[in-house]
Amino acid sequence: MNKSDTRQKAGLDWGNLPFGYVKTDYNIRYFYKDGSWSGGQLVGDEMISLNIAAPCLHYGQECFEGLKVFETVDGRIVSFRPTENARRLNRSCERIYIPRIPEQIFIEALEKVVKANAKYVPPFGTGASMYIRPLAIGIGARVGLGPADEYAFIMFGTPVGPYYKGGFTPVKALALEDFDRAAPQGVGDCKVGGNYAAGLAGSQYAKKKGYPIVMYLDSAEKKYVDEFGTSNFIGIKGNTYVTPKSNSILPSITNDSLTIIAKDMGLKVERRQISIDELGDFSEAGAVGTAAVITPVNQVDYRGRSFTFGNGDQAGPVLTELYNRLTKIQTGEMEDKHGWLHEIKI
Ligand SMILES: *Cc1c(COP(=O)(O)O)cnc(C)c1O
Repeated sequence: MNKSDTRQKAGLDWGNLPFGYVKTDYNIRYFYKDGSWSGGQLVGDEMISLNIAAPCLHYGQECFEGLKVFETVDGRIVSFRPTENARRLNRSCERIYIPRIPEQIFIEALEKVVKANAKYVPPFGTGASMYIRPLAIGIGARVGLGPADEYAFIMFGTPVGPYYKGGFTPVKALALEDFDRAAPQGVGDCKVGGNYAAGLAGSQYAKKKGYPIVMYLDSAEKKYVDEFGTSNFIGIKGNTYVTPKSNSILPSITNDSLTIIAKDMGLKVERRQISIDELGDFSEAGAVGTAAVITPVNQVDYRGRSFTFGNGDQAGPVLTELYNRLTKIQTGEMEDKHGWLHEIKI
């Protein structure tokens, strides 16, 4: 018998979940004090109590991650490349002076929080998954600028619906002229909260003009494509998968996985600077990240110019194949030959 048949499930409308927050039964918390991390505490309370002088509130000493957990076709519960998220969280921590979170603590937190909330892991076949949000914050009381002396590492999960309810449909993007995301030697390559607060004005400006997503160019010269607000850029040119090389973009785990799948498919992969003018040469373009895997992009507008990709409201064949392969690996419908799935025994 398939294991999922005996597992209790929360009675949610799995196919219609938004990409939003749904309260689950437990979250897990670790506290850092006097040089070491505590053991994890599973708590039912979704609120936290913080000192009003905590540096995360004043100076943005905060970083986070995002990854997904799936139920596979054969009823296993798996997370996708969680060690990569643990490593990236530590790179973010290091940059903003938060103490390292040992990888085994990250994986233990993941296993415990998923196990405690197993009934919220959406069933296979619904297109839904459990989104896991780890975060680290500076919490000791302090008023002058400086790193906190106490920290919290918190992880929670929330069931999220399939990103594409109406099919795998392309969107248009606005390349921003008047906003930068990250300075060349800033924190663009780290998943720190301040980047996203700084991006809100630009993304709201674009939304008002009818663009669901924004593209950022390099802030030094405004000549090269950096990435979208919360996802990396990929473009298809002939038999080549091209993605930007830049110090100020977030190294996407989805993008890394797709480059490996692209090679499996016989495509060439190039990671290099992409000038805004080169956009005209791509047959397909996409925004890639954990939430949607790939959002096909059919148009990028910049300074009165329009670059178009694919054929209108239809996603191109290469991105469609990349999307199908990655999502099928995640659900166990395609062989996980790169060892990306981390099983969580419930
Ligand atoms: C999280 C994020 C991505 C996507 O990274 P994944 O590991 O694929 O989820 C891309 N760009 C930015 C700015 C991000 O914050």
